[in-house]
Amino acid sequence: MSRSGNKTSQILEAAEKGQYGVLAAIAYNVEHITAFVQAAENRRSPLIIQLFPSTLVQTPSLVHAAAAAARTASVPIALHLDHAQDVNQIKEVVDNLPFDSIMVDMSHYEKEENLQRTAALREYCHAKGISVEAETGRIEGGEDGILDTGDLEGILTSPEDVEEFIRAGVDYLAPSVGNVHGDYGVKGPQLDMDRLHNIFKALNGRVRLVLHGTNDFSPELAKACIQAGVTKFNVNKLVLDPWHDYIRANIHKPITQVIDEGIDVLKRSMERWMDIMGSSGKV
Ligand SMILES: [Zn+2]
Repeated sequence: MSRSGNKTSQILEAAEKGQYGVLAAIAYNVEHITAFVQAAENRRSPLIIQLFPSTLVQTPSLVHAAAAAARTASVPIALHLDHAQDVNQIKEVVDNLPFDSIMVDMSHYEKEENLQRTAALREYCHAKGISVEAETGRIEGGEDGILDTGDLEGILTSPEDVEEFIRAGVDYLAPSVGNVHGDYGVKGPQLDMDRLHNIFKALNGRVRLVLHGTNDFSPELAKACIQAGVTKFNVNKLVLDPWHDYIRANIHKPITQVIDEGIDVLKRSMERWMDIMGSSGKV
């Protein structure tokens, strides 16, 4: 497979051209996959299904269910591995599993080593036709929400970072612009939108822009990020929360009913966010 034939790249290039966002939704089980695909087909929307590396260990068959669902869908759906941090696991995944793209996350190393390792793994992935996402700066995790700007400054993505990662040959960049993994706390997301705009300008159409840390996002903020150039939105709780709420409230019902109704709740949540992202009706 050539890189130009890469499914994730095709989906994101079309999104950048059409100025809409694509949901890259984390799946933990087969009901999630089912609801994601049904929503994409109902809305005629492209979609990226994401798995965490831990899921490959926890439920090894899920990646094959996701790949089959993506392959047989009537709309473009790509399969992406999120936050792959283990070099050996990445190589094993590239050699054996049907992913279209992988986030090679070496952000736990200092910048020079991050770049070096990213470039080497990028070469390994590209040789198999798999495209690569990387994280510039360091996106903070934790549940306590936004840190002081003073504390955060050292890890925010700079324009120089962008050039270095483009030289490392990655296809998609996930910058650190005040976005955090986990919940944002009472103040809600406080993104540095000027920085996001400037990063997109610096990319100059060479790679696609990805946003991590979308818990607690409002539709308005998502739209502002699309305006700033983001095409790939990593979403987890943002779309899954209604499903969690449904399961908690209905777990006493017969299992088949819980599965059916849960899929329906999640499908509607996905459809709502596809409408907000502007990806509905695009394929
Ligand atoms: Zn992330």
